[in-house]
Amino acid sequence: MQTLTTPGYTLHLLSDGITWGDGAGPFGLVPRPRWSKLLPPDAENRVPMALWNPLLRVDGKWVLIDCGAGDKDPATFATQYFLQRPDGSLIEQLATAGVTPEQIDIVVLTHLHGDHSGWATRRDTNGRIVPTFANARYYVQRQEYHDATHPNERTRNTYFADNFVPLFEAGVLTLLEGPAQITPSLRVEPTPGHCMGHQSVIIETPEQPPLLLIGDLTPYAWHLARTAWVTAYDVFPMTTIETKRSMQSWCLAHNPVIVFAHDTLTPMGRLVKTDKGFLDVVALTR
Ligand SMILES: [Zn+2]
Repeated sequence: MQTLTTPGYTLHLLSDGITWGDGAGPFGLVPRPRWSKLLPPDAENRVPMALWNPLLRVDGKWVLIDCGAGDKDPATFATQYFLQRPDGSLIEQLATAGVTPEQIDIVVLTHLHGDHSGWATRRDTNGRIVPTFANARYYVQRQEYHDATHPNERTRNTYFADNFVPLFEAGVLTLLEGPAQITPSLRVEPTPGHCMGHQSVIIETPEQPPLLLIGDLTPYAWHLARTAWVTAYDVFPMTTIETKRSMQSWCLAHNPVIVFAHDTLTPMGRLVKTDKGFLDVVALTR
């Protein structure tokens, strides 16, 4: 487990495993000869996508960002996403970090796709679906909750109502309308494109550069450095590009550590401008 300790916060990068999908998914319109040099696919043209879920200790709270794939629908994740968990599930990794589900104070969901909201709920011993983090308040954008509960032909394969409707019914889900300060150091910023209600998380403390949990705006580091590289999953690709442009400027101005939600090779890095004027992500080495 990767851990980043700073005077202002501690970050544990928890994994809920790795999924495998056709390279055309994350790379969209990018020709295969270009992306396959960077991330060689397997014999079936599949590439790995990590499921990173940052756990933060900040402002005296335990905060979890996103909830992996969960365990309510193992058949779908086994047969469609080829989910592997060599290092255990998110819940097991949480235990390794020394934290119980009951200790989590805040859960921020960047969006409600099935690979980000799975562990938000689970079945109790009676088979009832309940919030996994019994004492937590959950946060998502109202726009995203609306879109997830009104899916269309393109989005219904990834919005599983059992992951989020029970949160709303239990009264633990706060629906945000735009930017919001969740704790003194932690705020969310709408970053539309992957879906219209997508949000990213920013931690700003006086002692060091910010931490940016960018979510699926740029699932791999390459997506942030290459403005035109947009996944095939993005519902509004031109919006992704516009959002990315403003995020690139913000990153160059503030030099945050950035967490890439699905990157197996560069889970954390910084955006830099090279001598030739190109953008690049430099992996965080510790
Ligand atoms: Zn995702």
